[in-house]
Amino acid sequence: SIYNIPRAPPDRILGLTERFNSDQNPLKVNLTVGIYKDENGQVTTLPSVARAQTVLDQHEELNTDLSYLPISGSADFQSNVLQFLFRESAPQGAQYLDEDRISFIQTLSGTGALAVASKLLSLFVTKTAWVPDPSWANHCNVLQNNGFKDIRPYPYLKNGSLNVEQWLQELQNAPVASSQSNPQCIILHACCHNPSGIDPSSEQWTEILDTIHDLNLIPIIDMAYQGMDTGDLYKDAYLLRMSLDSQRYCWPNGLFLCQSFAKNMGLYGERVGSLSVVTPPDMTLKPNIDSQLKKIVRGFYSSPPGYGSRVANVVLSTSELKTQWFEDVKKMHSRLQSVRTKMAERLNWNCFSEINGQHGMFLYTGLSPSQVGILRENHSVYLNSDGRLSLSGLNSSNIDYVCDCMQKVTDG
Ligand code: PMP
Repeated sequence: SIYNIPRAPPDRILGLTERFNSDQNPLKVNLTVGIYKDENGQVTTLPSVARAQTVLDQHEELNTDLSYLPISGSADFQSNVLQFLFRESAPQGAQYLDEDRISFIQTLSGTGALAVASKLLSLFVTKTAWVPDPSWANHCNVLQNNGFKDIRPYPYLKNGSLNVEQWLQELQNAPVASSQSNPQCIILHACCHNPSGIDPSSEQWTEILDTIHDLNLIPIIDMAYQGMDTGDLYKDAYLLRMSLDSQRYCWPNGLFLCQSFAKNMGLYGERVGSLSVVTPPDMTLKPNIDSQLKKIVRGFYSSPPGYGSRVANVVLSTSELKTQWFEDVKKMHSRLQSVRTKMAERLNWNCFSEINGQHGMFLYTGLSPSQVGILRENHSVYLNSDGRLSLSGLNSSNIDYVCDCMQKVTDG
């Protein structure tokens, strides 16, 4: 009956924003959500994106069609994004495109890509997934909602540092191992691991990918922060480049790429992203996967929204705007870096020794949930309970206040 519906816990991150909004302290600072804000604390439209919107406004024929997009999204979006990801960001992908081995759909941003990918996998391939511990909290939620029965954490950090040895050992020693006929999948953060900001080095990635490949695990590459690692969109796709090296890896059960334009184009609420499934070289596979992806999308939400993908199309297909976009991303990255450096200088603690080794939009502070609670209750400084702090919420008007409060909390 309807009385069987229990109360779900509030979302760990979005629930905090609700509490922040009702906080009366004029000094309150929200450092929870991963949205880029400029030095004035404003969420602004990227100049490249604003120019693309103007182009759309001026060319009615580009923007007056409010009818449905196809189930798998706009054909232009597909060709622009495939070009961007698999020829430019990862030229190793060109071979797979030329062989027509990449199944692609436009998705409701990165989360939508993860949802459709996990539905496809759980229906036909596996219900077991490895997820880093810690990870973005929504990973488990999305996998569970879409049919995964066995979600296994792999140890990503130990005392605030990356722990590759134990991670790989855990995969190798699993009581029920992944095999080619009974594969399991594994979520990999492409760069800017959320929440820690700590990524494996390229030598470590080689070791990780070799092990994953030996174990017949299916990689699900979650690329939500392309461009936010080094400021260079192309450079940041290194995990994709490494994984697509066909001399080294063949991925007999495919490779999944869940990609988002939320952060790097600032298109958060427009829900613009993609799912690519790189298939083994068997011509029967791609049409089957294409058809199942469409069936899943049709049942979920029928077709993706149009406007955001039209904006992305203009940015990706107009060389001047694309150059501007690369500049915009570089600028976001450099502001985040300078805030990170300032924090590292100001917070001279042992547990922050890794600050400058972290990448992306967040600072993983190492504060305990109770310290985060004190920061929130006594000082109105809002962090996630895992100690993750969104750097873009800091600027010259609040960084001293936040550092002082953090110092007070850790000094006891
Ligand atoms: N994966 C990770 C690790 C993320 O941090 C995010 C954004 N918070 C996403 C995926 C997806 O975000 P979106 O659906 O907004 O693209």
